[in-house]
Amino acid sequence: MTQDRDYYDVLGVSKEATKAEIKKAYRKMAVKYHPDKNPDDPEAEERFKELGHAYEVLSDENKRAAYDRYGHAAFESGGMGGAARGGGGFHDPFDIFSQVFGGGGGGGIFEEMFGGGGGGGRRDPSGRSAGSDLRYDLEITLEEAATGCEKELEIEKYVGCDSCGSKGSSDSSGMSTCSTCNGHGRVVASRGFFQVQQTCPTCHGAGGVIKNPCSKCDGDGRVQKTSRMKINIPEGVDTGVRIRSGGKGDAGMRGGPAGDLYVVIHVKDNDVFEREGDNLYCNVPVSFPKAALGGEIKVPTLQGVASIKVPAGTQSGTTFRLRSKGMPVLSSGGRRGDLLVNVDVEVPTKLNSKQKELLEQLGETMGEENSPMHESFFEKAKRFFTAD
Ligand SMILES: [Zn+2]
Ligand SMILES: [Zn+2]
Repeated sequence: MTQDRDYYDVLGVSKEATKAEIKKAYRKMAVKYHPDKNPDDPEAEERFKELGHAYEVLSDENKRAAYDRYGHAAFESGGMGGAARGGGGFHDPFDIFSQVFGGGGGGGIFEEMFGGGGGGGRRDPSGRSAGSDLRYDLEITLEEAATGCEKELEIEKYVGCDSCGSKGSSDSSGMSTCSTCNGHGRVVASRGFFQVQQTCPTCHGAGGVIKNPCSKCDGDGRVQKTSRMKINIPEGVDTGVRIRSGGKGDAGMRGGPAGDLYVVIHVKDNDVFEREGDNLYCNVPVSFPKAALGGEIKVPTLQGVASIKVPAGTQSGTTFRLRSKGMPVLSSGGRRGDLLVNVDVEVPTKLNSKQKELLEQLGETMGEENSPMHESFFEKAKRFFTAD
């Protein structure tokens, strides 16, 4: 079997890598691509075999030297490459794996592969295994994010089967050894050159089967159900914040530990305030006379109305900062961001005749020169105004 990929690339090591580095790289990758961890994934299986070949060659000084000189051709059995300079074909990648991990098929390998950790693991003959973590996307309003809130969630998830007490067995007859795999949890199938070990389809790797499975849960010890639960959303959350609820995910198989629930927050857009981190922004319209003469304007805040004084001659686009009127800072014990009010000076549109008259009079007394931007603008742009 010829693989085209460079063995050093396959293991992700440099050409100068030491034996220890090669072994370390192999351990890491082989665990990742082991077929037990990637059931029904032919690509992972292919990677796993490839890793076995790469490790077999690069971990052996003679084979490595041959590979460095002749490349893959050093290991082609028969054909153009000449008869197996490096010593013929490859071993079963599962043998390689067992050798590196200390063999024996004991807990060590599986702990490394599946993270070990309490009660789980495929070789627990009772078939107990941990439930999955779940994700729930929750949309809330900006006001809710500002004050914090309690939400009721409706989640479709696995819960323990009450009919068998999550044990999966309808009576006390318990477990018997799986006859398909003789309790090994894995079966060997031939695929081309290789004997590939697969998770046993009957016991799903547990090694044992329930003699009299509970009819409600089919022996799983858990059933799917729509569950309701309440969750507290703290003040100051923003889109992307994850709230973890330990043990509120899927129930485990046959009484295994439940997974966690992660509630992912999405804060809806608000039509008055725009949020940037802990600060809020809002646009407030101001009438032309008030902007010119100065005065008090009312502005909305999340805690109700506030008023600010705008000085005479306030221009459109001027920003006023209201300290601590923004969003609460998440888990800061009461700190808040600021509210930034942007003033939009409005040009009146529906003038009655009296107002028109007054404006015309104003215009006459002012002339265009009484404008704060007038001078610098005409200075800059004068060449466009002088006709030649
Ligand atoms: Zn049951
Ligand atoms: Zn089995």
